Amino acid sequence: MSGHKTFTMLKPDAVEKGHIGAILNQITASGFKITAMKLTQMTTADAETFYAIHKERPFFGELVEYMTRGPIVAAVLEKENAVEDFRTLIGATNPEDAAEGTIRKKYAASIGENAVHGSDSDENAEIEAAFHFAGREMF
Ligand code: UDP
Repeated sequence: MSGHKTFTMLKPDAVEKGHIGAILNQITASGFKITAMKLTQMTTADAETFYAIHKERPFFGELVEYMTRGPIVAAVLEKENAVEDFRTLIGATNPEDAAEGTIRKKYAASIGENAVHGSDSDENAEIEAAFHFAGREMF
């Protein structure tokens, strides 16, 4: 059975462009409850750890630069079937392939600078939430 929790980041490009409010509004209007949230900035070590699975990929250096260049909004979200429903809401990794109305279609500039992160499994949702939040910051 699928879980009720996912983890998201509104990435530096989305914050720079002033899209925090609009994106959070779309997330909550889609039935997700925010159970943890903060504005924070990842260090290089943070980004290298968070995206360690991609460390051999050619885009890894650019990804780390991008994710550390300014603040992000980190949040934990709850809803039935959260991981899958949130990935549907954000759309494909490449905004050119993302469905109309999805967050990436509306706010992402490119496959690299794609506005928002969503966990890809229940297990990773737990790991990523714990990476960014202490237990007392999650409600
Ligand atoms: N990414 C990139 N180039 C690529 C693929 C991915 O810069 O060709 C970046 C992009 O920011 C993406 C992140 O790496 O969101 C993680 O990639 P993943 O394949 O896990 O995509 P996601 O799960 O975020 O859709």
